[in-house]
Amino acid sequence: MQRDIYDEDHEAFREVVREFVKRYVSPEKAAQWDRDGEVDRPTMLAAAEHGLIGLSVPEEFGGAGMLMDYRFRSVVNEELIRCGHGSALAGAFGIHDDLAVPYLAHFGTDAQQQKWLPKMATAEVLGALAMTEPGAGSDLRGVTTTAKKVDGGYVVNGAKTFISSGKTADLVVTFVKTGEGNRPDAFSLILIEDGMAGFDHSKTLHKMGFPGHDTAELTFTDVFVPDENLIGGVEGLGFIQLMKNLPLERLSIGAVAAAVGEAALEWTLEYTTSRQAFGHPVVDFQNTRFRLAEMATTVDAMWAFTDRAMNLYRHGKLSADEAAKVKFWCTEREWEILDQGVQLHGGYGYITEYPIARAFLDARVHRIYGGTNEVMREIVARSVTGRK
Ligand SMILES: Cc1cc2nc3c(=O)[nH]c(=O)nc-3n(C[C@H](O)[C@H](O)[C@H](O)COP(=O)(O)OP(=O)(O)OC[C@H]3O[C@@H](n4cnc5c(N)ncnc54)[C@H](O)[C@@H]3O)c2cc1C
Repeated sequence: MQRDIYDEDHEAFREVVREFVKRYVSPEKAAQWDRDGEVDRPTMLAAAEHGLIGLSVPEEFGGAGMLMDYRFRSVVNEELIRCGHGSALAGAFGIHDDLAVPYLAHFGTDAQQQKWLPKMATAEVLGALAMTEPGAGSDLRGVTTTAKKVDGGYVVNGAKTFISSGKTADLVVTFVKTGEGNRPDAFSLILIEDGMAGFDHSKTLHKMGFPGHDTAELTFTDVFVPDENLIGGVEGLGFIQLMKNLPLERLSIGAVAAAVGEAALEWTLEYTTSRQAFGHPVVDFQNTRFRLAEMATTVDAMWAFTDRAMNLYRHGKLSADEAAKVKFWCTEREWEILDQGVQLHGGYGYITEYPIARAFLDARVHRIYGGTNEVMREIVARSVTGRK
């Protein structure tokens, strides 16, 4: 089904992304990122030069000013994912543009914006968002990392875990307790910088998927953070700030899932057309044809849903619970499509040399992070029933 959310600017930009992919993304590069457990900085800097990251940084700070328009970022995801070797990059770009930059662009003080956003536009400074802790993920009111007020700043103690880009980030938007109890106004967002004394973000975690994108544990031991790093300059707004970015966070995961679903369909079609069994291409078995028909229909539905959400988002009309629908529904469909794609590849579907196998492993986390799909269903159920 033809999509109609893109105009000629997006298609021209798609060509730029394709050129970048040709030049900077290859099986060898992806294997290197997998071995290193992270994407190298020169590639991130080159991506910024080509305008592939820094898209959400406002124009006055050197970015593309697309904070409220996800379409260009979706084009980047689509091309990186389709090539079969770009998922680590798509992950690293998304964390920077969708999870870190927005907190500064929406809530940063003038001084914070002027200090950080120009460097975030060029990828000289890469961002991450740290909310989850060893003892608190879905239930963020359970976080125990504290930022205690002292003269001229805060002293931060605690730990975060599962933080995407946590090792490579230069600047971590960190969710901390600045007050007593667990009322919403007891929490704030604070910027913790690479190199601050007592901040350790060197320990990475080994995952089943996304081996080329770092996920780290962060520890804070008496880290002194100056007042100027409190996002927005006012204590107690952390929850409100997080809520504001939920639609984008959820939409972005749904849109990635749709891009993966489409790529999985393409890879499976290509494979089953070339693979022979019982004297025929596998694509000619009725079962294969029916499964491909289901996959193609699901991909159309995923795009129809996410495209609608992208349009609502750019008009400031996508609510957090609508975005929760997109996140959980698209990632569940993505999982089904990938499972079917692996099956139709036979044994090769299980071999990580094949993009379908890697995408399958990568995608498992889409139903977990950004709020688990159970929590997403809870949010949607609340909006449907009006009951907590
Ligand atoms: C690879 C990866 C990258 C990540 N990146 C980041 C990042 O960049 N920044 C960050 O802050 N976090 C990140 N996370 C953390 C992620 O968002 C959390 O893992 C997720 O929110 C779930 O929290 P949890 O792991 O503590 O699980 P828990 O909250 O302990 O949940 C355990 C189970 O209980 C279920 N459950 C919990 N509450 C409810 C409920 N109310 N109703 C029904 N079921 C419920 C969950 O759905 C889940 O099945 C990442 C995680 C991974 C694995």
